[in-house]
Amino acid sequence: METLLKEQAKKINIELTDHMIEQFMKYKSLLKEWNEKINLTAITEDREIIIKHFIDSLTIAKYIPENAYMIDVGTGAGFPGIPVKIFRKDVKVVLLDSLNKRLNFLNEVIKELELEEIETVHGRAEDAGNNLKYREKFDVATARAVANISTLSELCTPFVKVGGTFICMKANADEEIKNAQKALEILKMEEEQKEQFKIEEIDSERTIIIYRKKNNTPKQYPRKAGTPAKQPI
Ligand code: SAM
Repeated sequence: METLLKEQAKKINIELTDHMIEQFMKYKSLLKEWNEKINLTAITEDREIIIKHFIDSLTIAKYIPENAYMIDVGTGAGFPGIPVKIFRKDVKVVLLDSLNKRLNFLNEVIKELELEEIETVHGRAEDAGNNLKYREKFDVATARAVANISTLSELCTPFVKVGGTFICMKANADEEIKNAQKALEILKMEEEQKEQFKIEEIDSERTIIIYRKKNNTPKQYPRKAGTPAKQPI
């Protein structure tokens, strides 16, 4: 499995050190062990964990500026935040999720992998986005598999500083991108770059969209918990 991880990372121009590979293997063991007690992921087979979770998470690394402060919204079992942290020690990471039991797992991973400058925050994105400790404090906000882009933009972009980016991870997203245009405009975000590619090993379509923040998030966003999903902008 170490070889698979190393080779697949190379395909996306990522060179993992032996120490990083060791950390990924420890992460995989903890994920499988904890997944028997609490629901963390439906993906349990080694090869799939490596490609669908680890490699997929690493595909955004090249879009993260050096020494960035990044929040992973709805991180779940730590994706993409933990793989990014393992590969990019320079990035300071906040892992946010509304389910505390998942954060217990993540705290254990952080401890066992001896990761530094990374913290877990328990809460809803709608509440944390209105908390001055987190609002417009990040260079990068990212999320994977949390909501459609309209909803997600309201959950993620309030965290981003003016000039920073929202890195959105999707499968095939053409329709969603179109439907989210109004929301992104209202939230002062501009599409800057879009990369569509395939993870050949699993024949999976992926899209990364980079939105840049042009101005402050209007005060009324994010709306109260649940509203962004029920009534997307
Ligand atoms: N990002 C991970 C991944 O790609 O594997 C987890 C995806 S999981 C399907 C969605 C996660 O988002 C869950 O852990 C859930 O608790 C969290 N979540 C959903 N809505 C949220 C919100 N409004 N605020 C914070 N976390 C949220």
